[in-house]
Amino acid sequence: MILTVTLNPAVDISYPLQTLVIDDVNRVSDVSKTAGGKGLNVSRVLHLMQQTLLATGIVGGHIGNFIKQKLDDDQIQHEFFEIQQESRNAIAILHDDGCQTEILEAGPTISADDAQAFMQFYGQLLTKVSTVTLSGSLPKGLGADYYAKMVEMAGNAGVKAILDTSGASLLASLKATVKPTLIKPNETEIAQLLDQPIDVTDIDGLKTALQAPIFAGVEWIVVSMGAAGAFAKHNDHFYRVSIPKIHVENPVGSGDSTLAGLAMAIDTNESDEVILKTGMTTGMLNTMEKQTGFVNPELFKPYFAKVTFKEV
Ligand code: ATP
Repeated sequence: MILTVTLNPAVDISYPLQTLVIDDVNRVSDVSKTAGGKGLNVSRVLHLMQQTLLATGIVGGHIGNFIKQKLDDDQIQHEFFEIQQESRNAIAILHDDGCQTEILEAGPTISADDAQAFMQFYGQLLTKVSTVTLSGSLPKGLGADYYAKMVEMAGNAGVKAILDTSGASLLASLKATVKPTLIKPNETEIAQLLDQPIDVTDIDGLKTALQAPIFAGVEWIVVSMGAAGAFAKHNDHFYRVSIPKIHVENPVGSGDSTLAGLAMAIDTNESDEVILKTGMTTGMLNTMEKQTGFVNPELFKPYFAKVTFKEV
């Protein structure tokens, strides 16, 4: 079973407007409210792909209850740690032919006691699973090494840890003794970590970059590259994965959907080829849907067959 972690989940509110009028009233009738946050996108895709999963994280207040209710509605199994503060809303105003204006609440500040109590709660959940996904930025109050500690606990429990984060918390996890099983940095993140520009079309340059000491000990590094597919390193092997040209409806959440695909194939110990093709396919299927973090499982087989994989 896969455990998905979302430490700062949100209710994603979408307000479609013909035109956004500044400094006046904007009335909206077609409102959508869904359970959001990168880890919950991963959860939804895993569920749509008929995987057994348990979603966890930190929630509080009425918004926290709403998030849990939405997961219940979707029949996604969850066990969240409850805090006294209110979880957050994330508002996207879709307006004026393709513009998107976002208003993102920061969310709660986690107290030191709650941070410690969640770790214990998480430790219990680790006994039930074989893989854990850790996605997104950390809520305020948690130290940059919080994910590193969660990865270490997973490693000590024999659970594979798949980490999708950036900045200081990714760096802290890479510097820790127990490394994540898989990371999914994009071009910008690799450039930041190495403090040098990266050209993703240069395979030899990418190979050298992923062999930098900062990545030592990380079993899988998957660099997803949007429509160009992905480049990956598994121990000493390097792979280039290419995807067919498809009609893109909404690419938001493709990274999370890719992570779900990678997690499900890693959890069942598939070959390197199947792991990467599965991740690429769930990413592609997400871009073909309007809804964020959503896939049509019936399209999985035909699109999986169109992904090409080669060792480089
Ligand atoms: P995000 O954080 O926006 O969700 P990301 O940068 O983590 O995305 P991407 O590399 O953009 O991740 O996308 C992940 C995967 O989704 C790609 O490797 C690919 O399989 C699929 N994908 C994304 N964008 C496209 C696209 N325009 N056309 C086809 N497939 C796409």
